[in-house]
Amino acid sequence: MLRVRNFFDKMNSADLIELIRRLMECPAAPYHEFAVRSAIESIAQEHGLCHGFDRFGNLIIKTGTIGRPIVLAAHMDHPGFVIKDRLDATSWSAEFLGGVPDKYFVPGIPLRIFPNSIACRLGAILDPERRVYKIEIGSEVKEASFAVWDLPCFTVRDSLILGRACDDLIGVAAALATLIELKRRDVTQQVYAVFTRAEEVGFGGAIAAAKHRIIPDDSFVISLETSRELPPVTIGQGVIVRIGDKASVFDSAGTRYLTEISSKLLAANSGFQFQKALMSGGTCEATAYQEYGYTSAALCVALGNYHNCSSEKIDEEFVHQHDVETMVSLLVEASIEFSNFSYWTNKLRVRLDELSLQTEPRLIV
Ligand SMILES: [Zn+2]
Repeated sequence: MLRVRNFFDKMNSADLIELIRRLMECPAAPYHEFAVRSAIESIAQEHGLCHGFDRFGNLIIKTGTIGRPIVLAAHMDHPGFVIKDRLDATSWSAEFLGGVPDKYFVPGIPLRIFPNSIACRLGAILDPERRVYKIEIGSEVKEASFAVWDLPCFTVRDSLILGRACDDLIGVAAALATLIELKRRDVTQQVYAVFTRAEEVGFGGAIAAAKHRIIPDDSFVISLETSRELPPVTIGQGVIVRIGDKASVFDSAGTRYLTEISSKLLAANSGFQFQKALMSGGTCEATAYQEYGYTSAALCVALGNYHNCSSEKIDEEFVHQHDVETMVSLLVEASIEFSNFSYWTNKLRVRLDELSLQTEPRLIV
């Protein structure tokens, strides 16, 4: 398998996989991100990273104190069922939140209901408009808040990471790994990670954070996502510099900066790979931050079985380990080089000026 040589100084592939495992074992649905949030908090504490909450329940972590702030943005939720009412001793009604087509909701599909992780099944649809379903449990359950597809949480097979929720716990893991690596290397550049809530229902946490200026005005926001594998990108061919999404094109200088740093890594390290594409399969948080005035760019890794939809049934999502490693590698380097942002983004202009010295005299009529 392809490996990024020296992609971390302090962390290695096994550390990154362990981080991903801890996150992917946490169930979550929109507005019910508690388990993911407490796993992130524990990891941050173990590594001496400062963390705190905003009043919307988004979790913010920071390393470094110097320079224009970089903000790594990722979300903690995943499409799932939010419990509404108790129907009788063994069944509840639940609204499905997130983008999964109707054809996948086949009665009898195994689910798991929380907080007590009890096996249950999808029942009949009760309100097609509002996507409310019956959830049937074999025994009496007194307390219920949300439910998820009963799929394996985490497996690594042939360099693929499979599980119920790669989206967006892979983005969360990449942000955390970057901050851990920067802290261990004593990098002084200030880098925040903002872990948001309720992205799957329309960027709830990100909009709140952007609208209420929870992060500094001059931040350079980099949205980290998994994104449905669509041509021209391929799973396993490296991190994707995402030039835009379904709704927006992102900051030109910011995108060029990430591309230049990727090219630098490519030249220096034969194991590094990257791709560049406008991933139009969905809209990511970079659009939300950009709409509220933040300079925004995006990176993503290609995702298989987007939102648990394989060709005909609910299944595990998957990403390639190499793509995640290259994402972290790029984020670490982009953070270290950030004080030279102008140098990297002006390289093209310098080259154009040189070219014009040759072409201009021959143009004069
Ligand atoms: Zn999603």
